[in-house]
Amino acid sequence: MEKVRFGKTGLMVSRVALGGIPIMRVSKAEAVKLVQEAIGLGINFIDTAHVYADSEEKIGEGIKGIRREDLIIASKSPADDKKQFNENLDLSLKRLGVDYIDIYQLHNVGSETRRDAVLAPGGAYEGLQEAVKAGKVRFPAFSSHSLPVALELMKSDKFAVVQFPFNYIDRQAEKEAIPLAQKLDMGFIAMKPMGGGLLNNAGISFRYLLQYDSIVPDPGIESIEEIREIVGIVEKKQPLTAEDKKEIEKLCAEFGPSWCHRCDYCQPCPQGIAISAVLCTKSSSKRFSPERARAMIGPAVEKAKTCLECGDCMTRCPYHLEIPRLLKENIAHWDSLA
Ligand code: SF4
Ligand code: SF4
Repeated sequence: MEKVRFGKTGLMVSRVALGGIPIMRVSKAEAVKLVQEAIGLGINFIDTAHVYADSEEKIGEGIKGIRREDLIIASKSPADDKKQFNENLDLSLKRLGVDYIDIYQLHNVGSETRRDAVLAPGGAYEGLQEAVKAGKVRFPAFSSHSLPVALELMKSDKFAVVQFPFNYIDRQAEKEAIPLAQKLDMGFIAMKPMGGGLLNNAGISFRYLLQYDSIVPDPGIESIEEIREIVGIVEKKQPLTAEDKKEIEKLCAEFGPSWCHRCDYCQPCPQGIAISAVLCTKSSSKRFSPERARAMIGPAVEKAKTCLECGDCMTRCPYHLEIPRLLKENIAHWDSLA
């Protein structure tokens, strides 16, 4: 597997990473086999998060016996303040069974409120800086779904790596964020390369993303067959075909008008409905285990049933999504899974 320089970190990472969300759904034994298969196929970059249930622990089992310097490990903390951040990081290190994490991200800095909290004195960013000084983390990073917040944090010179959604339907990052990452020499992790499980043609997804030399796609993978398929596609280095382009156009027309970018510009909702969480019900129910999905989005879906159809949110959505209708569709999908 080809390795590429990951921006100013200077790390040489595999052309594709192993994303740790779906590992939550498989047994520990299967997770260990999956991680070992990925490493055997040349993937040296593994990304997980504190909040992905037992994902860190399972990955920790899978990397036992592998030379630490042969792996690039990334994880994330959802903490706002330093105390919580330190607790999260120490637990991430323990679960992964490592002395340091290469890339530690402030998880989903997706709003101005969260941005202000993490950057405040005594905030999570202070903890991240101290962790870098203490050698527990090599490179500070963040993930986000909000383009303006992500662009601002990228320009702040505080982070070496950014993680942002990017796939052939969700192309928000294409015009500004990817060129900016290149200009600033930051590593760019492409989150949801297969649309969080909604885009099921791996060939098209990766041929599209691999046009961009400077990004590393981070697919969540739960089976050995998937990892072999993706590595095969990546290693083939085939450009997009005319047929792929046609299919992309078709899928953009099908999914685009209802694709929620999780930017949360539609808030606040007078009913307190977590609109983006509900609009992502289909992908969340594919990515997470049924128990985890129930805990994460079950209450939000129930709350969505109180929508007044006032349309306030629609006036704020930059993508002109028909939110009340989409809420209903997602509620129906969720109820059909019960
Ligand atoms: S239409 Fe529904 S979701 Fe949108 S603001 Fe009104 S109550 Fe909230
Ligand atoms: S509904 Fe629109 S504004 Fe709200 S999170 Fe989704 S894309 Fe953003």
